[in-house]
Amino acid sequence: MRKPMIVGNWKMNKTRADALALATGLKHRLADLTGIDLVVAPALTALTSVAEVLADSTISLAAQNCYPADSGAYTGEISPLQLKDVGCRYCLVGHSERRRLFAETDAFINAKMKTLLAAGMLPILCIGETLEERESGRMFAILKRQTIDALENIDPQHGLDIVIAYEPVWAIGTGKTATSAQAEEVHQFIRDILCTLYGRTVSQQIRILYGGSVKPDNIDELMAQPNVDGALVGGASLKVEDFSRIALFK
Ligand code: PEP
Repeated sequence: MRKPMIVGNWKMNKTRADALALATGLKHRLADLTGIDLVVAPALTALTSVAEVLADSTISLAAQNCYPADSGAYTGEISPLQLKDVGCRYCLVGHSERRRLFAETDAFINAKMKTLLAAGMLPILCIGETLEERESGRMFAILKRQTIDALENIDPQHGLDIVIAYEPVWAIGTGKTATSAQAEEVHQFIRDILCTLYGRTVSQQIRILYGGSVKPDNIDELMAQPNVDGALVGGASLKVEDFSRIALFK
């Protein structure tokens, strides 16, 4: 019913030449793959080159960040319109590294969501709790706030343009993955929130990805969960073999 989606977040890695080699490798390795949305998010400096390599492939391009305005005096920032102009279809929003290292608030994230949607791009909204928030019993309240605040005043007609990525902060880049049961519990919880916001039909169609140390050896079990519709992959997306195996989940 929901088309699976696998997204590779290359973060601040790879020169342009390295990014081109990775994109070319993925394109050849995954040329025949259908029935899934495959997306890569290179660093800004590699976007144009990777877009050219992937132009005749089924792999789409995402940006890792944007600024919530179409243009203007925002030195060093990039707008959704500019990202769309170089071939990006998606943009990550609210990644925990941006929340933590760059103090991004839910209100700022909401502004990015709106600007992206107005520009005709598809936001991948990342939410997730820290270990302390999970262990102190505040996990569901935090996830609910992150979801509702990020989607505030977003017209239900955009419900299907949104992808959500549940990324427990304690699992990102740590080698610790949520168990498939933990992931499913939260994904079901997020879907219930989406149902309240957008109604049952739309909520059943929104993809909810899991992110946090997804690897070739845990993807199959995660994807077997009814509410896990795909994965947002960091470290393991930097190698053709690992990312391809993840994309070819069983
Ligand atoms: C991420 O970058 O969003 C991520 C989940 O990283 P990793 O797969 O390395 O944990």
